[in-house]
Amino acid sequence: MRAEGTEQELGRIIDGQAIARSIRDELAVEVAALAEGGIVPGLAVILVGDDPASAVYVASKERACREAGMHGVTIKLPAETTQQALLEHVHALNADPAIHGILVQMPLPRHIQSDAIIRAIDPRKDVDGFHPINVGKLLIGERDGFAPCTPAGVQELLARCGVETAGKECVIVGRSNIVGKPMMSLLVQDARWANATVTVCHRHTKDLAAHTRRADIVIAATGRPGLLTADMVKRGVVVIDVGINRVEDAAHAKGYRIVGDVDFESVRPVASWITPVPKGVGPMTIAMLMKNTVRAATLIAAARGETCSFAGRGIA
Ligand code: NAD
Repeated sequence: MRAEGTEQELGRIIDGQAIARSIRDELAVEVAALAEGGIVPGLAVILVGDDPASAVYVASKERACREAGMHGVTIKLPAETTQQALLEHVHALNADPAIHGILVQMPLPRHIQSDAIIRAIDPRKDVDGFHPINVGKLLIGERDGFAPCTPAGVQELLARCGVETAGKECVIVGRSNIVGKPMMSLLVQDARWANATVTVCHRHTKDLAAHTRRADIVIAATGRPGLLTADMVKRGVVVIDVGINRVEDAAHAKGYRIVGDVDFESVRPVASWITPVPKGVGPMTIAMLMKNTVRAATLIAAARGETCSFAGRGIA
């Protein structure tokens, strides 16, 4: 779509699935090179309980690792697993030289304190980037930590589409620790594909539309289907939709469909770039998890004095 009387192209879709595929292919090459030096990046995922959505995510993470030539293990534990037993699994993985990345699938059963589990993971193996050490490193701009996969994936999408962020007004809607806040930490840095002027909105923000209307880039991560509508954005905006929401839909075989936080149909014609849901941000999360695991393996190998070619948290 090209708008009349302007050179700006509108309605371009950011193909997260294709970009994630490229990253995974690049990682497979990196993994093969590491294998020549005797290093096989290993990711361990712990799943507690039998939440079906979590089981699907975990299976796709393990599959993606194997496909890239990495070592992937899933530890499935019953819902009644004690916090102490879970901590012991984490400690064993911290000590396991074949494992470079550890991910404990959230949410955990209520009787387990997630914070205690996250803090028990060796920060050098914290490929989810949720350990306070990695959260702090990201905020102060130290590049040897791990950024959480979903916001890192968003930054990578922007970079690979050539969406300049420097000096741009970037409005993030949502302030969770897994998306909104680390997204802010990434984009506010004095770094390539960052240097944005960042506003973080949340449920207490007065007049959300007043913020989103002046944004060059809007990143929606609220879990509210269709929250962002065309009247809330300016022409030419870049829209990244992190939301994954189930809405009832009798027309679909499953009785529901997956939508984002953005009213895609109305916003697309006025946006210069927009991510779809599904196949936008979602596939990037797994690709970045793999990327973090390969980095963890190279950083751990480098610390041991072995060869290392992929240590920086570079993007694109
Ligand atoms: P969360 O529930 O932890 O946080 C939601 C945030 O949105 C809160 O900060 C809240 O203040 C804000 N919010 C809610 N309603 C609002 C409103 N009306 N106006 C402004 N702000 C509002 O959610 P989360 O874990 O950050 O996830 C957000 C969405 O992203 C969910 O749909 C989730 O499924 C999805 N998600 C996708 C991926 C992925 O891989 N693509 C990863 C993580 C989360």
